[in-house]
Amino acid sequence: MDQYLRTLLDDVKGGHRLSEDECRALFSVRDRQIWEIAAAADEVREQRAGTAVTWVLNQNINVTNLCVNSCGFCGYSKKPGDEGCYFYDRTEIQKKAALARTRGVSEICTVSGLHPAFTAQSYIDVYRWIHEAAPGVHLHASNPMEVAYAAMKSHMSTAGVLEMMKEAGLGSMCGTAAEILVDSVRETICREKIPTAGWVRIIKEAHTLGIPTTATIMYGHCESEADRVRHLAILREVQDETHGFTEFVPLSFIHMNTPIYRAGIARAGATGREDLLMVAVARLFLDNFNNIQVSWVKEGIKMAQLGLVAGANDLGGTMFEESISKGAGAMNTDYLDPKEMQRVAEDVGRPLRRRSTLYELLSP
Ligand code: SF4
Repeated sequence: MDQYLRTLLDDVKGGHRLSEDECRALFSVRDRQIWEIAAAADEVREQRAGTAVTWVLNQNINVTNLCVNSCGFCGYSKKPGDEGCYFYDRTEIQKKAALARTRGVSEICTVSGLHPAFTAQSYIDVYRWIHEAAPGVHLHASNPMEVAYAAMKSHMSTAGVLEMMKEAGLGSMCGTAAEILVDSVRETICREKIPTAGWVRIIKEAHTLGIPTTATIMYGHCESEADRVRHLAILREVQDETHGFTEFVPLSFIHMNTPIYRAGIARAGATGREDLLMVAVARLFLDNFNNIQVSWVKEGIKMAQLGLVAGANDLGGTMFEESISKGAGAMNTDYLDPKEMQRVAEDVGRPLRRRSTLYELLSP
């Protein structure tokens, strides 16, 4: 394996496109060779994304945790009447958006539960209220599941919903609800969600309409290495076709308060080795992505920092408010001070640079 791995990593640095079998071999490494994979990914990161560590000044607004679905990995959603369920009305949303504006954010991010009463118009209303209270701020919102839900509730096509959303000021869409893009896994962890083909179709529709999206994976529950590879291969295929993904964001499973963990279906999240390899292998496999983000919300800042020397070039956003991972049991997820981002970037010898949602560099 030693020589095989070394040759493979040299080939990738020279421009070889990894096959799915080769990708799986990299995910299966368990010993000190993980550092060689990380080092190769770090070199590729430098070639493709430069030395800067980027971040975005953003704020989350999760409008409601009421949700008609019951995904097994979700510790956030509630049913009507449950303790802790909430729903922000126009006044509350605009108060939060105005506060975000005073904080100087360039992005407001909003994804929520699938509220039983929501229609396509509900999403449009939320977008308009946010834009009224925070004009000029980039709206990064919804995901393929919300689009499919809005379409179903309003008897529209998903492309039609996306057109309405774009018209109402959607700047880019979240690539969440991807979880693992393998239907047998989706059947176990989120059977009510759109299947793989639906997620891919809606993402391609968004890209075709000029709505860029992120790409994500949620790993560390009950998926296999082969499932992770298939997922990455789907993302790479879509990117070859549309070039509409702005970044790849690996999301490490937060297990504590989730039904699949309690039921013994999922393990207790990814290990440190898996977190590191997910970033590094993604950097090597996704040769058509410029940006790989580490999620300090999911991994904690120390593990996120290690991701920066294993292929990642972006630290994500400040958030200010975060409910979804907190619901699943994560701690310290509300806000990351840019000063702390600067400390961890400089600690690995790299400059920190503020960016927009679409990766234009901004003044600090
Ligand atoms: S993951 Fe999203 S769709 Fe699934 S139950 Fe949670 S809030 Fe609802």
